[in-house]
Amino acid sequence: ESEVLRLSTGCKNLDNLLNGGFRRGTITEVFGESGCGKTQLALQTTLYNWLQGCVYICTEDLFPTKRYEEIKINLSSYDPKVDYGKHIFVEHITEANDLLSCIRVRLPRLLDHHKVSLIVIDSVTAPFRCESTNYIRRAEDLRELAILMTSLAQKHNLVIFCINQVTASFKDSDNVLPSLGLAWSNMVTARLMLKKTLKIADVVSLPKQMHHLLTSNQPIYIRELSTVFAPDLPDASTEFVITSKGLQG
Ligand code: ATP
Ligand code: MG
Repeated sequence: ESEVLRLSTGCKNLDNLLNGGFRRGTITEVFGESGCGKTQLALQTTLYNWLQGCVYICTEDLFPTKRYEEIKINLSSYDPKVDYGKHIFVEHITEANDLLSCIRVRLPRLLDHHKVSLIVIDSVTAPFRCESTNYIRRAEDLRELAILMTSLAQKHNLVIFCINQVTASFKDSDNVLPSLGLAWSNMVTARLMLKKTLKIADVVSLPKQMHHLLTSNQPIYIRELSTVFAPDLPDASTEFVITSKGLQG
């Protein structure tokens, strides 16, 4: 199943949790606080599927080219002669209207001419921030976005990977909730929560082959990915770390 239906994250624990990786034909959302590792996860998934074609839509920061170059050399099949950016199409978009027209007009044209298996939107939250006072408008735009993406995902059998930020719950300030509200959450197929825990990796929590990482002076925080809802996955979570080599665990 894993090769046909799902795209690997390149991290064993995450692939195990996801039954092989992100499911084609569906929208998966990953949400979490700033610095928890959302972009790292999206970037590594892009790298591991570069040959299948990826569209990476940046709405916050520039595409992290340097980091992409840093983690690519850890591919087991790494070949310095290969251009790992060849099938990666990067878009920088900040306005909700531009995002919608990109997905309505430009993406279908691109998909007619190029093989693409993964579309990342990093993040969906940012373009809709300025609409945050006009909830009706925002809900309509998010609905259109989800409908357009669902139809692209199904027509081209591709993975849509959306990154979402969080808002603090006013009932419990320790508890974070994904942004964009219920109208949006009802339209994504699977929702995953990413957390940077307060646990620091040590010889007990890290597998033997990663013990050399512990010699650095920087503490390595353990990250946790959990399924919040996913039609075909159990409620579960798994741990990993982020190092110069990428997501490992
Ligand atoms: P935001 O919401 O602000 O975009 P994010 O969830 O996308 O945050 P990332 O940029 O994916 O966060 O993760 C940043 C974290 O990844 C850093 O705090 C650091 O711990 C880790 N990281 C990034 N690059 C490296 C590296 N070269 N070596 C080790 N760790 C790294
Ligand atoms: Mg990010």
